[in-house]
Amino acid sequence: MNPLELPREFLLVWWGLMGLFVGSFLNVVIHRYPYDQETIHRPRRSRCPQCRKELGWRENIPLLSWLIQRGRCSACRWPIPFRYPLVEALNAALWLYVGWRCLPEQWPLALVWSLVASSLLVTTFVDFDHLEIPDWVSIGGMLCAPVLSALVPELHRGGLCVQWIDGSAEGVPSRMAAVVNSLAGIATGAGVLWAIGVLGSKAFGKDAMGFGDVKLLGAGGGLVGPIGSLVALMVASLIGSVMGVGNILRWLCFLRRRVTQRRARRGWLASCRAARVMGQYLPFGPALAMGILVVLCEWSWLAAWWPVP
Ligand SMILES: [Zn+2]
Repeated sequence: MNPLELPREFLLVWWGLMGLFVGSFLNVVIHRYPYDQETIHRPRRSRCPQCRKELGWRENIPLLSWLIQRGRCSACRWPIPFRYPLVEALNAALWLYVGWRCLPEQWPLALVWSLVASSLLVTTFVDFDHLEIPDWVSIGGMLCAPVLSALVPELHRGGLCVQWIDGSAEGVPSRMAAVVNSLAGIATGAGVLWAIGVLGSKAFGKDAMGFGDVKLLGAGGGLVGPIGSLVALMVASLIGSVMGVGNILRWLCFLRRRVTQRRARRGWLASCRAARVMGQYLPFGPALAMGILVVLCEWSWLAAWWPVP
């Protein structure tokens, strides 16, 4: 029996559960990123970071274990950070959403979108923690994107190069057109961010853009094409601005609370200035990841807003 003929609700639940288990694996990837001697295979079993106790299968069930143990290690009562279940829940939600958009007819697209969403989720958390974007996502993404485009040309439906090569934006693109659109997307995404970085560093005399961001938008462009990569950058800038303002406000609250606690005499203006300085260091990778994902999954209606030639 073909599993794709099962009821759609069943497929969605199953896909969401897969996302939950993959999310649990992503926690391992994120957590072990800074440790050179640890890989995703070694050590084989996850351990409590506090007491080094190896976790049995009961303690490894996504979400459920955390809820049952009320967020604490069963041996040493170490409070397990909330972000472990958060990553699992976020990944499950992303997979469920992708499934809802694609299953069952477009299952190859569901597979690619889900894998991309998970990679971008890892990128987001690693960039927040270490101000670095993993090379396997950025460089790996740039290498994989043309291959994936050849396998699933559907990815580039309505792409700019597809219209030139196939002569029409309707229907499934040819493999050739999809690969060309992917390569053009890599060049545009990486090129435009690199140019902004060069101009920015000339104008402000400091690095405006990390090279990791350049490679990440290159990889994203390989999946969403040249126009998609520009739209992704615009969406990312918008998200980045909101995040930036939010971060400055967070610092402002923190500073004002301290002023009240210490009964210090410090004006609001001075606090605002300090908050602006403290709040400006925010990685751009997470915003970029969100921009790429939004364009990847919602291109069909975003394109309606974009005057495609
Ligand atoms: Zn422990």
